[in-house]
Amino acid sequence: MPHKDKEERKEYSRNYFLKHKEQINEYNRKRREENPDKFKEYGKKQRELHPDAFKQYREKNKEKIQASQKNYREKNRDLVISKYGKICGCCGEHIKEFLAIDHIDGVKIEGWPTHGGSLYRKLIKENYPEGFRVLCHNCNLSLGIYGYCPHKTEIRNEIDKKRTIVLKYYGNKCECCGESNIEFLAVDHKKGDGADEKRRGIEGHRLIGHIIKNNFPNKYRILCHNCNTSCGVNGVCAHEKWRV
Ligand SMILES: [Zn+2]
Ligand SMILES: [Zn+2]
Ligand SMILES: [Zn+2]
Ligand SMILES: [Zn+2]
Repeated sequence: MPHKDKEERKEYSRNYFLKHKEQINEYNRKRREENPDKFKEYGKKQRELHPDAFKQYREKNKEKIQASQKNYREKNRDLVISKYGKICGCCGEHIKEFLAIDHIDGVKIEGWPTHGGSLYRKLIKENYPEGFRVLCHNCNLSLGIYGYCPHKTEIRNEIDKKRTIVLKYYGNKCECCGESNIEFLAVDHKKGDGADEKRRGIEGHRLIGHIIKNNFPNKYRILCHNCNTSCGVNGVCAHEKWRV
C-alpha cells in the first residue's frame, strides 16, 4: 500500500530499520569490507549532500563515536604489537600498556606517520613491513633521546666514543664563547640549514653518526647550548650584541 505522506513513509522506514537493524548492519559491514574505497566515496558524498544532518548526528552521538574510534585504535594497536613480537625487544616487558612500536634505525620514512593510530593503520595496510619492532616506553624513549638503553651499556660507550671524536674534530669548544665543558656543547649547522636533516630524523646521536659516516663535512661547527640557542632564535649570538 502506498504511503499517504512523507511522515508516514519516514516512520515506516524507521520501523523497518529498527526491525532489521542487525541484518542491515551486517550487510553494510560486508559491503564496506569488500569495497572500502567505494564506501568511503559514498560516505563523503552523503556528508556533502546533508552536512547539517551529519553534524547533528555527530553531536548527538559524540561519546559513542569517540568510544568506537578509541576501540578501533586499540584493536589495531594490539594487532600490530602482537605481529611484531608482543614483548619489548630490549627488556622483555610484556604489559601491553607499556609497549610501543619503534622504527629500528630511528630514521623517519618520508610521508609516513610517526606514531599513534595512523602509524598502526599504515603498518596493517603495508602488511607489517620489516624495520619495526616492539619496545617498552622506557627503552624506546631512552633510545630516542640518548641513543642507548641502560640495558645495553656497550652501545652507550660506543655513542660516547663517537661524540668525543666529533667534538674533538670540530675544536672541542664553543666557537663563539670558548666554553669547553662537553656537556654544554652541541653540533651546529653553520648556515642554520639543519631543519631538513632534523625532518629526516638526523639529530642528536644520529647526527653524530651521520657526520662520521660523511667524513666530517665542513658545514658543521661546535657551539655551546647558550650560543646555539641564541643563534637559532636571533640569527646571531647575543654575545655579539654585548661585545660592543
Ligand atoms: Zn623495555
Ligand atoms: Zn632496554
Ligand atoms: Zn658559547
Ligand atoms: Zn656566543
